[in-house]
Amino acid sequence: MLKHTPYIIKIKRIIAKALFPLLLLAITGAGNDRLTVENINGNNYVSLYEIINKFNIESTFDPVFQKGRLYYKNHYLVYKPDYSVVIIDNSLWASLNPVCRYKSGIYLPEDIAIKLIESFFPEVILTKKNSAFEISTKVKMPEEKEKKYKEESITRDRIGFIIIDPGHGGKDPGAIGKGGIREKDITLQISGQVSQKLQKALSAVKIKETRKSDIFIELAERAEIANRELKKGINGIFVSIHVNASISNKISGFETYYLSQNPTNEEARKTAALENNVIVLEDKKGKKYDDTEYMEALMLTTQIQRESSLLAESVQRALDANIHEFKSKGVHRADFYVLRGALMPAVLVEVGFITNPKEAKYLTRRDYQEKISSAITEGILNFIKKYNKMIE
Ligand SMILES: [Zn+2]
Repeated sequence: MLKHTPYIIKIKRIIAKALFPLLLLAITGAGNDRLTVENINGNNYVSLYEIINKFNIESTFDPVFQKGRLYYKNHYLVYKPDYSVVIIDNSLWASLNPVCRYKSGIYLPEDIAIKLIESFFPEVILTKKNSAFEISTKVKMPEEKEKKYKEESITRDRIGFIIIDPGHGGKDPGAIGKGGIREKDITLQISGQVSQKLQKALSAVKIKETRKSDIFIELAERAEIANRELKKGINGIFVSIHVNASISNKISGFETYYLSQNPTNEEARKTAALENNVIVLEDKKGKKYDDTEYMEALMLTTQIQRESSLLAESVQRALDANIHEFKSKGVHRADFYVLRGALMPAVLVEVGFITNPKEAKYLTRRDYQEKISSAITEGILNFIKKYNKMIE
């Protein structure tokens, strides 16, 4: 059965291709074809089902990831119910309102529906009349339209929230040091301090911790906590805090990582392998990133990766300037699972080595933790200053 699927998809595509010009003719010919605008909780929505049918768009839904995809020619859109952001052709689009379930169907916020039609069908024009969009075709050249939207997609939004992610927790203790010191406790303490300091400095910015107690959270869920905060006009940053471990008790120091497909060195690869180990603790239920998921995350990261590297440098520079007890191990690129799903600048700070007896002792001391958390806060604040200048 399975091996026939590609042919079915191909045939569907051919039919869609053949039908589309006819469909457009029908639309323009009739002149009164329309998409109904539904008012849901005071906001305007369009039924996804109606869009798919009217425009012959291919559609799939992944019940495990609760993620839907739409395809037409080389265009695609990825959405997730309850999320205000969608991915259209490599770019993030944010609405003020989330994609929602309503009357046993999926509904797109009006602005996302418009963006979808504009991206997939540059020749189509939607005119709002009463509580519906009338569909017609444009006289303008399609290329002109496409160019305009590519330029528009690079505009960036202000930092409206910061997610502080204390590594590990619950059944996952993380790395364990001499005397039973646990990574999950140190990360929780330092994260709490960082978020308090940030909230003090940035009263208008929402500061959120992925956990505030000793609980287990899946890696994918950590990024989702962050992504759910993304809305039109609001960007965020994601900072995961960890403690490193090594087979050698002589190794010490602090370092900052950002996501990359190609880890900078063997050590970075090992650190990533260590942090990613937690995946085996998570409930399987077929929950793992497949290659398309992986590619999708990577495709998004050109812009995000650049900003992530700036954030990593800023945090590491502040640590370098303030921490002299141990050496700076610099900024590295690595493929951390927890950073992979975040649709915003994201870094992972390894504040020190729990396997180094001297550093482990320091890491449990309140005054040293305060020093570390102040430095991380300073690094984040410096990044935001720089970022805000970039988007001005
Ligand atoms: Zn860790």
